[in-house]
Amino acid sequence: MAKYKLEYLWLDGYTPVANIRGKTKIEEYDSFPTLEQLPVWGFDGSSTRQAEGHSSDCLLKPVAVYPDSTRRNGVLVMCEVLLPDGTPHPTNTRATIMDDPDAWFGFEQEYFLTENGRPLGFPAEGYPEPQGEYYTGVGYKNVGSIAREIVERHLDICLDAGINHEGINAEVAKGQWEFQIFGKGSAKAADQMWVARYILMRLCEEYGVDIEWHCKPLRGDWNGSGMHSNFSTKHMREVGGKEYFEKLMHAFEKNMDEHIAVYGPDNHLRLTGLHETQSIDKFTYGIADRGSSIRVPHAFVKAGYKGYLEDRRPNSQGDPYAIASRILKTISEVSTEV
Ligand code: ADP
Ligand code: MN
Ligand code: MN
Ligand code: MN
Repeated sequence: MAKYKLEYLWLDGYTPVANIRGKTKIEEYDSFPTLEQLPVWGFDGSSTRQAEGHSSDCLLKPVAVYPDSTRRNGVLVMCEVLLPDGTPHPTNTRATIMDDPDAWFGFEQEYFLTENGRPLGFPAEGYPEPQGEYYTGVGYKNVGSIAREIVERHLDICLDAGINHEGINAEVAKGQWEFQIFGKGSAKAADQMWVARYILMRLCEEYGVDIEWHCKPLRGDWNGSGMHSNFSTKHMREVGGKEYFEKLMHAFEKNMDEHIAVYGPDNHLRLTGLHETQSIDKFTYGIADRGSSIRVPHAFVKAGYKGYLEDRRPNSQGDPYAIASRILKTISEVSTEV
């Protein structure tokens, strides 16, 4: 038997962007615990904007479990928040996702590393060289001295946890980075994204560095941060076809406002039609077009309109649960009959 440190993680009730919270529970197990072995736990919802003080208990239901290589016998436990009666709390966006084991999502998370409110590598006053060499760049003048160490350590901790990173890269603005997570199952990649965000924020405590998740932290000729959301269903991958694709895009157009509502706050600052975006009030799709709302990969068309699509509108502060939920809802409105 060993004592395990279970870090229960959940999303709080702050709007428009939930914070991820965590607290530790010690339990004894023979070996690394399975999801089924993890107890339901509770917390004080009045401190997280999830309850009133006079009736403050909320429940934490474990939904995914990951090893935490930074802690001896460490376990990261992603949870849903439930009301005392066991039903989903109104802030529980994960519970709104239609369950579909054959839905696949790939999220590309962009973010800024910041120190004293300025992107890492920015001078104390004024601006560094304009954008150009930072994207996928190398060298002190492009990436500074500690950003790469943070990004590499983050990647290793995530890989140790079994999080399915597909890659990382330095982004277009100085101090801006990206990682991509892919998962099969409607909530899989979203669970992993929230845990990866948590790991990154926790790691950065050591460096006196914060993460700026906002989609447009710098005004002017500086890229904003997105969370491009790539998605496919079994039908899209195996049947597809031009006619189905066009019906699907029609449904996305019709639900434009509902999508934008969950694609992260302040997105009008980022979706301007510049910097590889479409403006927020237009819905367009285009083959290999990074200036459209939805990019249709070349391979999708070549395969006979089969495969995955990239919704480029979700931003870096978007909740991947709410995004996956909305995308699957719109897809479900489209008949797969020909
Ligand atoms: P880019 O920066 O060119 O948009 P990336 O390589 O950063 O491309 O991201 C592409 C994303 O698409 C990855 O996160 C990947 O996991 C995801 N992806 C690939 N195939 C599928 C699929 N069949 N269904 C859903 N997502 C997919
Ligand atoms: Mn990318
Ligand atoms: Mn990118
Ligand atoms: Mn992309």
